[in-house]
Amino acid sequence: MVAPRADLDWPHLPFAYQKTDFNLRYTFRDGRWDAGVLTGDETLPIHIAATCLHYGQEAFEGLKVFESRQGEALVFRLDENARRMAGSCRKILMEPPPEALFIEAVERVVRANRRFIPPYGSGASLYVRPLVIGSGPRVGVAPADEYMLVVFVTPVGPYFKTGFKPMPLVVEEEVDRAAPLGVGDVKVGGNYAAGMRASYGAKQRGYSEVLYLDAKEKQYIDESGPANFYGISPEGQYVTPASGSILPSITNKCLITLAEQMGLRPERRPVHVEEIFTFTEAGCCGTAAVITPVASITWGDRKVTYGDGQTPGPHSTALYRRLTAIQAGDAPDEWGWVRRIPLD
Ligand SMILES: *Cc1c(COP(=O)(O)O)cnc(C)c1O
Repeated sequence: MVAPRADLDWPHLPFAYQKTDFNLRYTFRDGRWDAGVLTGDETLPIHIAATCLHYGQEAFEGLKVFESRQGEALVFRLDENARRMAGSCRKILMEPPPEALFIEAVERVVRANRRFIPPYGSGASLYVRPLVIGSGPRVGVAPADEYMLVVFVTPVGPYFKTGFKPMPLVVEEEVDRAAPLGVGDVKVGGNYAAGMRASYGAKQRGYSEVLYLDAKEKQYIDESGPANFYGISPEGQYVTPASGSILPSITNKCLITLAEQMGLRPERRPVHVEEIFTFTEAGCCGTAAVITPVASITWGDRKVTYGDGQTPGPHSTALYRRLTAIQAGDAPDEWGWVRRIPLD
């Protein structure tokens, strides 16, 4: 590490916003992206008629930076996040930042905030949050003519308070997060607004999150609020839902590769909700959630508990260890998932 590290309680960080030194903003105006500015200002001056404020022209990403044992800054799957951000923008008719610009932006803001990269082995990471917003004014419904790419970072601990400890889920039957031909497959803020009352309500009833069903038939598992879902079958399959209304998790994609290598047979297919009673373990996966094992799933007046409801299952544990070891540079990166960010 080049700079002295910020004085934070690294092993006990929450998953919450923490002020850092800089954020970065690029503007797309008159048909081109500008050179971007680093600033310490945490607010955005924004036109009152900006499309992001009225019509939800907003997309975001989330990725993590880890310090390796050797003190390098390692970012996980930056290329995939760059590609997905462009896809999200295109789907809601926003100007997609070129992938090279996205990559440059992430590296630049991480370098500027390097004293906030949590130390190796602390269990924390530097979460990077890029967002694109329609910043140009419109009153009639139409795409904006001006966009901003904003990137901030915040050091974080585990997303679910339990960390790598099983959490209870509940099947959501009253609320749909996304429709089959809607925007559930891209990372836009509107999907979170749609699901907020479901997540919030579940937490009030003592569950960590909901499990959404497909909006059309209410028969198949879609995903959890901020994370994809998988179950392990007694035959040793890693089963994860195929659905047009779930966000294709990059973590899940990596886990499919790892599961296969570890002798679990991955299957991505529609997963009937009744199958929750057949799995031997289940988990939620995503950049923020990493792998969070599922303790139990409540579905109406039925409930399934995995194992003793307290101890993560063996397959989830093995997948978690393998994934986090690759992210920290402790296990060989056979697929080029990790990229080193030059810090000076
Ligand atoms: C971001 C996100 C995920 C997880 O995706 P990763 O690429 O693994 O971080 C899952 N579901 C939803 C709805 C998301 O927004």
